[in-house]
Amino acid sequence: MSQLDLVNVTKRYGEIVAVDDAALTVPAGSFICLLGPSGCGKTTLMRIIAGLESASAGEVRFDGTRIDATPVHRRDFGMVFQSLALFPHLSVGDNIAYPLRIRGKGRAEREARVAELLDLVRLPGVADRPISQLSGGQRQRVAIARALAVSPKLFLLDEPLSALDAKLREAMQVELRQLQQRLGITTIVVTHDQREAMTMADQIVVMKSGRVLQMDRPIDVYRRPASPFVADFLGQTNCLTAKAGSGGAEIVGATVPGLDLGAGRREAEISVRPEDVAVRGAGEAPIAAEIEFVRDMGSTIEIYLKTAAGPMIAQRPTGHGEFSIGDKVSLAIDPAAVVVFPDGAPR
Ligand code: ATP
Repeated sequence: MSQLDLVNVTKRYGEIVAVDDAALTVPAGSFICLLGPSGCGKTTLMRIIAGLESASAGEVRFDGTRIDATPVHRRDFGMVFQSLALFPHLSVGDNIAYPLRIRGKGRAEREARVAELLDLVRLPGVADRPISQLSGGQRQRVAIARALAVSPKLFLLDEPLSALDAKLREAMQVELRQLQQRLGITTIVVTHDQREAMTMADQIVVMKSGRVLQMDRPIDVYRRPASPFVADFLGQTNCLTAKAGSGGAEIVGATVPGLDLGAGRREAEISVRPEDVAVRGAGEAPIAAEIEFVRDMGSTIEIYLKTAAGPMIAQRPTGHGEFSIGDKVSLAIDPAAVVVFPDGAPR
């Protein structure tokens, strides 16, 4: 078992509350992404887990035991940071073997382990190369291999792929996930990239202003966001106000039959994803709109719309209709695809 529990963890820097009463459980063997905008406290939370920072209040537990007072090097966690922090004057092999050397492992054991780790990160045979001769993606793999050298109980990565170009980054996301699954190691990754989180995570933790807003499977964070903030942060969405009406609710002045806002609620914030907004000819569907902009993404078309209640966005697979700027159209919303938020959910 290697489960991590954060129990009401708060971190203050003077007036600033970097982490605000965060409670979460990372189950053994799972891959968790901490996701949120810049400054929301992801790195601070990660540093508290690693032991590089102490919490102002709350507890960090690993395998049920409090580790708040355990120093970094005694936690046996593997860490990879954005900067990678590789030693430029050492070879690839010496970099990877470094944590083994400081633990007093002999040369033969170190060399065998380095070869094994280089195979694991798909960089066989480069142990003698200088770090300076490696590409960004290769350095990334060396940093991962070094962090895994001592078979850590917990693997922590803070924006590990952010220095890579888009294509390599996507490939490394898949590799990192596959590597984690092969090893079965409990892993926490900090990212501000929602696509990256969706690709890798068993569960996504969405943070805002130091608080954990939601922790769920990627599909549930996307399909069942708990707040307008989460809906908006994960992909695109239409956040609208709905008013209770007879037999349904009114959105953008049009009745959506069967949409229930909850008992006694006259008004609610709702979210509907662009792919759940159907675009029809003028007058064919309840909501009148005009096309303001069309973005052809190759496999899908994003249609930016003007309605009486403000801008909306729809998305269609390419080849399902012609959409031009200035077209008068109408929109239909599938009530089953609408998420209704509770009052006061963070925006
Ligand atoms: P980013 O994605 O930009 O790295 P983040 O989500 O990782 O952001 P943190 O670096 O954890 O955010 O910072 C959270 C808040 O705490 C910010 O307001 C930041 O300015 C503040 N903060 C972080 N470290 C310190 C520090 N050592 N002293 C004072 N304030 C700090």
